[in-house]
Amino acid sequence: MSLGRSCDVGVVGAGPAGAVAAAILARKGLQVVVLEREAFPRFSIGESLLPQCMSFLEEAGMTAAVEAAGFQLKNGAAFEKAGLHSSFDFSDKIAEGCSTTFQVQRAQFDAVLAQEAERAGAEVRFRCEISGVGLDDRGVRLTYRDEAGGERELRCRFCLDASGSGKSFAGLLGLNLPQEGVQRESLFTHVVDGMSLGTMDREKILITVHPRHHSVWFWLIPFSDGTSSLGVVGPPNYFSTYPGEPLEVLQAVVGETGFLGDLMKPAAFEFPVRRICGYATRVSRLCGPRYALLGNAGGFIDPVFSSGVTIALKSASLAAAAVSRELNDGEVNWEQEFVKPLSVGVETFRHFVSAWYDTSLQDIIFAQTPNPRIRRMICSILAGYAWDKNNPYVEQPRRRLQALAEMCRLAP
Ligand SMILES: Cc1cc2nc3c(=O)[nH]c(=O)nc-3n(C[C@H](O)[C@H](O)[C@H](O)COP(=O)(O)OP(=O)(O)OC[C@H]3O[C@@H](n4cnc5c(N)ncnc54)[C@H](O)[C@@H]3O)c2cc1C
Repeated sequence: MSLGRSCDVGVVGAGPAGAVAAAILARKGLQVVVLEREAFPRFSIGESLLPQCMSFLEEAGMTAAVEAAGFQLKNGAAFEKAGLHSSFDFSDKIAEGCSTTFQVQRAQFDAVLAQEAERAGAEVRFRCEISGVGLDDRGVRLTYRDEAGGERELRCRFCLDASGSGKSFAGLLGLNLPQEGVQRESLFTHVVDGMSLGTMDREKILITVHPRHHSVWFWLIPFSDGTSSLGVVGPPNYFSTYPGEPLEVLQAVVGETGFLGDLMKPAAFEFPVRRICGYATRVSRLCGPRYALLGNAGGFIDPVFSSGVTIALKSASLAAAAVSRELNDGEVNWEQEFVKPLSVGVETFRHFVSAWYDTSLQDIIFAQTPNPRIRRMICSILAGYAWDKNNPYVEQPRRRLQALAEMCRLAP
């Protein structure tokens, strides 16, 4: 094995969590090395951002580069179910902060973030895959295979695992917990959408509920170049009841919807259809001596509210603050300063996701006579402000959602 150099912070993975954490730490003067398995640009799912995540991009000094990249502006979320339409404009949120964001092709977005991390002073090494981790009193030893296939070692004082669904540390340190709940499946692709002006608000993600199966839902995320991301999520084995290849299955399920099916009639399906399942994950701990898990490396709930990148960036921001204090000889209580604050928003989203699948949140979203103030609170969460404790739906998401759903059902 060839011995590599050492650094202050080693980061595994250059996705959004890794790149943002690396940039914040490098800007604080720490020596940061990011080891990324792939060569960028590379495809990734997770294309609809939430306005809350703009504050973390700002903290990392990345706003100008993201704005200059020409991504589709996003100002809200639209929902459709069996002819019922409901639209949220994020400017109606009660939380303070940005009310717009972007719908991004992740290959390009992640490449911009990685470049910005490098510009901030971090070293990003592509095609370097972590295969081992050793923790001792002096720090962390990361073993990895470099792009030439050689085995190398990086020593660091602290390590952030931002390896997403690669879940490096969870695998290597035995932190994976059994998956709980329903393991859903998703089929998705990009299409040349052919949608004419006025048929669809390109500045919003469209979430469509299947007219007969409430747990089957679709996303349509328009991009700025005339293409869109189109995907469907269903319960386990749902799609195996359809004949044909994934492309035919996706087209058949989309064809069962009214509004979305009509929107997609002119679409050209020119890109491969991908399938992913079992993506809901959890771990037994998010941190330990000299390491912490960021973003999807620490678990993932569900894609329905586009919360993944926002949670990833929130974890990067919290962890970067704690790491820089710890390495500057500060005392850090990781439970209090990282795990607990992160869990506020994660738990809010968890309750919203479970209320979506038990249909109470669908009833709320499509309510015919909604209370405007309550709708603004819901809008805040949809915009990603799930850590705003002034919002009663952050303080008590489960109880509030249940009561609201009951009110909506009783309303004339
Ligand atoms: C069907 C579906 C739809 C989704 N839609 C959305 C959406 O619309 N909006 C949204 O915000 N989120 C969405 N998500 C979630 C989103 O994809 C993730 O939450 C987000 O990408 C997490 O970012 P991350 O930085 O933690 O990890 P990632 O983006 O996964 O980045 C991890 C990086 O680590 C690298 N890596 C992995 N293993 C290793 C290793 N051993 N060594 C070195 N590098 C390694 C990978 O190559 C990758 O570049 C969706 C998820 C699913 C499943």
